[in-house]
Amino acid sequence: MRKPLIAGNWKMIGTRATNQALLEAILDQRYLFKGVDVALFPPAVYLQQVQTALQGTELHWGTQNLSQFESGAYTGEISAAMCRDFGSKYVLMGHSERRCLYAELNLDQHFLDHIIAEKYEMALRFGLTPIVCIGESPEEHALGQTEEVVIRLLDTIIAHQGADSLQHAVLAYEPVWAIGTGKTATPEWAQEVHSVMRKRIASHNPEVARNVQILYGGSVKGNNAGPLFAKPDVDGGLIGGSSRDADDFVKICQAAR
Ligand code: 13P
Repeated sequence: MRKPLIAGNWKMIGTRATNQALLEAILDQRYLFKGVDVALFPPAVYLQQVQTALQGTELHWGTQNLSQFESGAYTGEISAAMCRDFGSKYVLMGHSERRCLYAELNLDQHFLDHIIAEKYEMALRFGLTPIVCIGESPEEHALGQTEEVVIRLLDTIIAHQGADSLQHAVLAYEPVWAIGTGKTATPEWAQEVHSVMRKRIASHNPEVARNVQILYGGSVKGNNAGPLFAKPDVDGGLIGGSSRDADDFVKICQAAR
């Protein structure tokens, strides 16, 4: 039985004061989502604040990205060792906002998949659990290329690190057309794509496929989370906007129980 996981990606939102209010409100209501793993992903400058608030509780945290390099002259980057240093359990990687907004779009998408696979390797080496974001763009969606896109990154990771490595990882299906648009994927669509991913892993290692958590992300709200999480291959969510609203976020966490 896979444990549900709700990951809150704060993106580049918040201040010390608003973070504190949000953290306290979530902590106050955490009895409502017992049995659900919950992890928060603040901007890296607030990692210390989140660590201080959450350590000693059952909640986890992590960074929104990490460098594929171990250390050195990489201005603006964050290493896996630094994530660990602040008690992170998880790290997000491959988020479409990184792909689309940071010149990463100019790179060949296969090359980008390789960089993500290197980040994945680095996270595992430092005992972090990678949460790998995978999803098709609106154009790829319209062209019916969803399966091809999600399998491409999955296969790259498997080629680099082997399917067995996925026992230490989490996957997040985030269709780009659903992120921040209010156009949530239907539960049936999410289930279909998650099942494609799980079957691909099963063709290498059925046990790992049975155990790996696959999250759905893209306009998940308190009022639409239930039917999504009820699908057999949807093991929780990667939440953007609603992770900054304590009540809605708690509702989403409750829906995963
Ligand atoms: P929204 O929940 O705001 O659509 O964002 C999803 C996301 O990108 C989480 O990483």
